[in-house]
Amino acid sequence: MKKLIQNFLVFFVIFLLIAAVFSALTDSGKKSQIVGIEELISHINNDQVSEIVIDGNKLNISLRDSSQIIVLKESGESLSDLIRNYQVDTEKVLAVKTIVKQESSWAYFLVNVAPFLFPFLIIGFFIFFMMRGVQGANNRAISFGQSSAKDFKADANNRTTFKDVAGAKEAKEELQEIVEFLKFPKKFHELGAKIPRGVLLLGAPGTGKTLLARSVAGEAKVPFLHMSGSEFVEMFVGVGASRVRSLFEKAKKVAPCIIFIDEIDAVGRRRGAGLGGSHDEREQTLNQILVEMDGFEPTQNIIVIAATNRPDVLDPALLRPGRFDRRVMIDLPDLKDREDILSVHARKKPLAKNVDLKKIAARTAGFSGADLANILNEAAILAARENKKEIVNEHLFEAIEKVMIGPERKSRVINDKEKKITAYHEAGHALVSHFLPDADPVHKVSIISRGSAGGYTLKAPSEDKHMHSRSEFISEIAVLLAGHLIEKKIFGEVTTGATSDLRRATALARSLVTDYGMSDNLGPRTYGEKEEMIFLGREIHEQRNYSERTAERIDEEISSFIKQGENKAVAIIEKHQAVLEKIVEALLAKETIEKDEFELIVGPKPIVA
Ligand code: ADP
Ligand code: MG
Ligand code: ZN
Repeated sequence: MKKLIQNFLVFFVIFLLIAAVFSALTDSGKKSQIVGIEELISHINNDQVSEIVIDGNKLNISLRDSSQIIVLKESGESLSDLIRNYQVDTEKVLAVKTIVKQESSWAYFLVNVAPFLFPFLIIGFFIFFMMRGVQGANNRAISFGQSSAKDFKADANNRTTFKDVAGAKEAKEELQEIVEFLKFPKKFHELGAKIPRGVLLLGAPGTGKTLLARSVAGEAKVPFLHMSGSEFVEMFVGVGASRVRSLFEKAKKVAPCIIFIDEIDAVGRRRGAGLGGSHDEREQTLNQILVEMDGFEPTQNIIVIAATNRPDVLDPALLRPGRFDRRVMIDLPDLKDREDILSVHARKKPLAKNVDLKKIAARTAGFSGADLANILNEAAILAARENKKEIVNEHLFEAIEKVMIGPERKSRVINDKEKKITAYHEAGHALVSHFLPDADPVHKVSIISRGSAGGYTLKAPSEDKHMHSRSEFISEIAVLLAGHLIEKKIFGEVTTGATSDLRRATALARSLVTDYGMSDNLGPRTYGEKEEMIFLGREIHEQRNYSERTAERIDEEISSFIKQGENKAVAIIEKHQAVLEKIVEALLAKETIEKDEFELIVGPKPIVA
């Protein structure tokens, strides 16, 4: 579009120039007065005319008093015709010297040929410019294979550092290690330690993945080669792969450095999946990334950081050791983090004294960092529109609504009632998980909505476990059911918030029966052939290899396992009601409770007897 306007401007200037030349040539000669034909006749009759120069349609007349006049005539009408119409003395006309001026070839050309040529010229120019445009595209196609990675040179003043990233404490801690690797590689090489090659940042959109990656480069003061996964996928097959190659070439030249591949799920989807036309290209690109990552020496100090919000669709080969074996989760910010993020983005904005960012943070449960940055920006725009010098509370509140109702809102804000239900629900999961000796210790409880769940309870085994017993699975079912059971107990009815819990509990119970052979009644065998049928994404197709009658028994067994889990959960909930209330209280106040705080409330975890 810009190009088109530019071309038009060029044409316009050319047109003006031609017009100027044209008028200069035709309007040559001294400034003389233009008069009517009658005046010429009277001059002739009075013997005042010395010379008439016929110049096309113009009669340049020199008078005896050496002044000049001009008479215009119609083209095609000769001077003699003209004069004949008037009463003029023929003698006197003959006495006047008449010269027919040969038009200069240039003027002739301009007057007679140029008007015809001009449209052709314009068309010619158009074609020329268009050809140039196409050629440009061709040139681009040739340089296509070159990565167009943007290289943010370590600009001392403009560097993004961890200071620009509020919250995300754990993520920063993990990435600090990468910074150390890049800053002091020798320290690690001397001890024979291998520097990690790939780090995968996982997190919802807007949680600051790109920002964090950039800040790692800023902290380590190394170049940052930034490329988005979708940039690899172009219209020509093979371009993606060659871009990857050139990206890594470039990186090797500027190492130590960081290669950042944003939205890696665009290329890193499970291979062999889908019927889409572009998948060949994606596959080649992904293969090339894998080859390059395996190819560079550990001493080259290149660290590849990739970001995605869809870890579930990634090809397992990407996650293998030696590739993106480090994974850093970035959660949606909790209350405190939100306040910090707000203050980072408020740094350059004049806030009124009564603005309390804590309050804003409290109102924005479920917002991502990008949403919060957006709120401050919207508030600033609102303030500017009102010609205010500073941002007041009202601007911020209005901005929250604007961002919320706007089409971009994906995270949800929880009202007080939902918040309470969520608090009880999550407290239930946490309580049961804590008090069942063979369930995992709780690491974090939160009522910040995430995905489709209103809140979440993070638990992790205290040590790596590769085998699980039946009672562990039943405890797991108990923990999953706890949210639902508490909702029923406290509020008398259940919400849709427990749907995914129930689904998971049922799936787990089914696996106990059909995959793990843990049902005494059905015996040690598996039921059903699982077959990965991939069509437009990933889907598992199950083939039945058992009778209807067995199917019924499987269903009975599943219900029995669910019942066992339920009983386990109910027993705990009845026994520890007071503790439950305390957890809920803490959750409503803080939204997120970390492990330490949680254990202060509930006491130490009972140990397996
Ligand atoms: P993602 O890549 O995870 O989608 P970005 O890194 O692009 O998110 O974040 C978008 C914007 O949101 C950032 O430019 C920044 O202004 C803001 N932001 C997100 N998280 C934070 C944070 N933790 N601290 C400060 N600003 C943040
Ligand atoms: Mg991003
Ligand atoms: Zn739940």
